[in-house]
Amino acid sequence: MVVGDFPIELDTLVVGAGPGGYVAAIRAAQEGQNVTIVDKGNLGGVCLNVGCIPSKALIQAGHRYEHAQGADDMGIQTENVSIDFSKTQEWKGQVVNKLTGGVESLLKGNKVDIVKGEVYFVDKNTVKVMDDKNSQTYTFNNCIIGTGSRPIELPNFKYSDRVINSTGALNLSEIPEKMVVIGGGYIGTELGTAYANFGTEVTILEGQEDILLGFEKQMRQLVKKKLKKKGVNVVTNAMAQGVEEKEDGVTVTYEAKGESQTIDADYVLVTVGRKPNTDELGLEQVGIEMSDKGLIQIDKQCRTNIDNIYAIGDIVDGPPLAHKASYEGKIAAEAISGHASEIDYLGIPAVVFSEPELATVGHTEESAKEAGFEVKAAKFPFAANGRALSLNETEGFLKLVTRKEDGVVLGGQIAGANASDMIAEVGLAIESGMTAEDLALTIHAHPSLGEITMEAAEVALGKPIHTV
Ligand SMILES: Cc1cc2nc3c(=O)[nH]c(=O)nc-3n(C[C@H](O)[C@H](O)[C@H](O)COP(=O)(O)OP(=O)(O)OC[C@H]3O[C@@H](n4cnc5c(N)ncnc54)[C@H](O)[C@@H]3O)c2cc1C
Repeated sequence: MVVGDFPIELDTLVVGAGPGGYVAAIRAAQEGQNVTIVDKGNLGGVCLNVGCIPSKALIQAGHRYEHAQGADDMGIQTENVSIDFSKTQEWKGQVVNKLTGGVESLLKGNKVDIVKGEVYFVDKNTVKVMDDKNSQTYTFNNCIIGTGSRPIELPNFKYSDRVINSTGALNLSEIPEKMVVIGGGYIGTELGTAYANFGTEVTILEGQEDILLGFEKQMRQLVKKKLKKKGVNVVTNAMAQGVEEKEDGVTVTYEAKGESQTIDADYVLVTVGRKPNTDELGLEQVGIEMSDKGLIQIDKQCRTNIDNIYAIGDIVDGPPLAHKASYEGKIAAEAISGHASEIDYLGIPAVVFSEPELATVGHTEESAKEAGFEVKAAKFPFAANGRALSLNETEGFLKLVTRKEDGVVLGGQIAGANASDMIAEVGLAIESGMTAEDLALTIHAHPSLGEITMEAAEVALGKPIHTV
């Protein structure tokens, strides 16, 4: 018997339950909209399931394992430190499950209806949602699309058991003896570092002149120095050409300095960027405008050229980061309710969970100058901070970029322990139009890494206490 597909009427439909979609759904519900969220996969999207969270869990486990092997400087010697990687993976899975379960509770707590299935657009007010067995039509008043992105596949490196992407690298059941990482962006560098800490011999092949090119040279150098210390071989200007797969490993061919070279490994991890999930949604049926790269074009309120359809996260322009997706999700939800919320990317941070951690927000010295500002850049080293010394984490610096005429904070870069947390204060300073003096006058607890921000502000004012 064929059951008729009677359309179900919705108010706000959110497509994709990643950090963009689920946050948008909650905010839309808070605004009084009746919200339904649909995802074909697990709640939490890439970020919670196969991105930010599991990668940071593995990175943390790698740190613990490496630290457990002794800290001679502190007089700690250890013997027979071992790792049960299946337990590490089990723990990582628990962290993920706790968070995805939390997202489900939050959605339900905000009375958001959750539907499982794949969304396909029929027209500007209609979608079909398909699962293994059924197809159901829904009509909607407004829609927020947050379908995220997937790893790019290189033509000569088809994904398999041995040629893996970030998801494969996060879910290995064993610690490889050798791994080649193609691409020294933040994902490749983070996962390469994690496995190096677990004892894997890692080679990073980067096509450009350096890894982590979005960060300043001095910051990159600190990371490279640490990678070298861990035995990670970073080959720059290296073009990966092909892979030969064997039963128990791979041989990767690459070209560097005009010569073809080969390298054997258990796995090759390809992290050369991500592609927006906009090609299989039926968006052409709606006439949504897209760029050549498949990114959906939006205005300052995340609205597409179709009035009632909004797009957020990795499928729109800008850095593909979870906090950007969430930020845009809130704006789109508020715009639907008639608020004047608008995107302002001024204070958007970017972090690499490398060793040391790298973080940046707002302008760099160079970008501020390019934007026409007369700037003052003030640096303070971690090595001159008491807390950094007591943590034995003395590598790195904080650089504060201020406007010369009035000291307004324009940006900041941090390389050092806990840079990912410390960058928030600089972001807040930018967002609230604070000056170096405001930061310097804020009493920071002693001893803390936060004092580094205060001291950099004092450097900017020409009156540093703990550096000459
Ligand atoms: C290894 C790794 C580490 C990362 N680390 C960080 C980090 O430390 N910090 C950071 O900020 N970012 C990090 N990112 C990036 C971050 O994960 C993404 O920027 C973020 O997840 C994007 O959120 P989103 O909501 O746009 O999409 P996603 O998180 O990709 O979610 C999209 C959702 O849409 C669903 N979907 C897709 N198509 C359909 C359809 N047709 N119908 C129904 N549902 C659909 C998918 O199933 C998915 O659940 C990392 C990414 C990776 C891969």
